[in-house]
Amino acid sequence: MNIHEYQAKGVLKTFGVPVPRGIAAFSVDEAVAAAKELGGPVWVVKAQIHAGGRGKAGGVKVVKSLDGVREAAEAILGATLVTKQTGPEGKEVKRLYIEEGCDIASELYLSALVDRASSRIAFIASTEGGMDIEEVAAETPEKILTLTIDPASGFSGFHGREIAFALGLKGDAVKQCVRLIGSLYKAMTEKDASLLEINPLVLTGSGDLICLDAKMNFDSNALFRQKDIVELRDLDEEDPMEVRASEYDLNYIRLDGEIGCMVNGAGLAMATMDIIKLKGGSPANFLDVGGGASTEQVTAAFKIILSDPNVKGILVNIFGGIMRCDFIAEGIVAAAREVHLDRPLVVRLEGTNVDLGKKILSESGLPIIAAGDLSDAAVKVVAAVKEAS
Ligand code: ADP
Ligand code: MG
Repeated sequence: MNIHEYQAKGVLKTFGVPVPRGIAAFSVDEAVAAAKELGGPVWVVKAQIHAGGRGKAGGVKVVKSLDGVREAAEAILGATLVTKQTGPEGKEVKRLYIEEGCDIASELYLSALVDRASSRIAFIASTEGGMDIEEVAAETPEKILTLTIDPASGFSGFHGREIAFALGLKGDAVKQCVRLIGSLYKAMTEKDASLLEINPLVLTGSGDLICLDAKMNFDSNALFRQKDIVELRDLDEEDPMEVRASEYDLNYIRLDGEIGCMVNGAGLAMATMDIIKLKGGSPANFLDVGGGASTEQVTAAFKIILSDPNVKGILVNIFGGIMRCDFIAEGIVAAAREVHLDRPLVVRLEGTNVDLGKKILSESGLPIIAAGDLSDAAVKVVAAVKEAS
């Protein structure tokens, strides 16, 4: 789960992480009032969307008067920002963050993530702040330090010092960096964050370290014990189809192909997407309905798939292990009737009670195309979609 910059800064502040003072605003008047409360002489008006690269897209404006704050807020609020991370359709700005201006001497890069290869939290630090870290990694990898922390012994001062030296810090800034890394590590572990990115981390004219930007992602499997984080969820920022899928406990991720997929089990869902590609089609989604999907879930899944206008055909691929195929077949028939299925539907069933399941499908009177195996199913759905378009 993702949160906004101002929310991440709020979370980090409770761990003693230095962030600039700021106030969130939902309207232009609120933005001006926030600026008055903060006091000048310099403010930064920042678009709050779940995507980075806002600065280059005009979503971060440094201003020096209250009129400037008003103008910037009017320009940014309600605008659609297209950044490197939003995709070409962009994201509408519905919230602003008004922050005090910071006297920047240098911009550094710092992030922490759960590194699967080492099964540890890894810190990544670079002197090349404010830039795309992917570019730095590709062109000048020697400018990036990666440091993992052993969870058994936890954070120690030497971790912080190693990062401070890699960042070229000196004197009191080294001490500040050690404290900062300790606080970030604590925030990361206590809040079950999967990613924390400070880009840029700034050294100010007076020699202080401060986090000028903050991005935090959280492990969704841990949200049950992070109630305060769940409250920060902003549904406006999420794909409406994915939001609906999550209400039914469906693991759904929207993609840009034309073949809707409904599969049980994540591994089988990935294999299904692969074989669709292999046979010349492209998947419109990843969808794992789980091992014990109910009729309601199957119906909801169908509705979600069909509400995607890009979907030209559907492939249902179910292995009835725990679940019986006849039960699935009944769910498919009920769902197809309820949603007035208007696109070709290919079904491949295998497993317990498969014959009974196939019988239910063939006797339903619905135009369902039955498939023998996975390869046959993919060939049939790709052909049906080509024929229909
Ligand atoms: P994004 O990464 O989405 O572009 P940032 O928060 O990193 O957004 O802001 C982009 C740039 O704007 C920063 O690299 C920094 O130069 C400048 N900036 C952001 N916040 C402030 C601030 N409070 N004071 C001064 N400059 C800022
Ligand atoms: Mg940034």
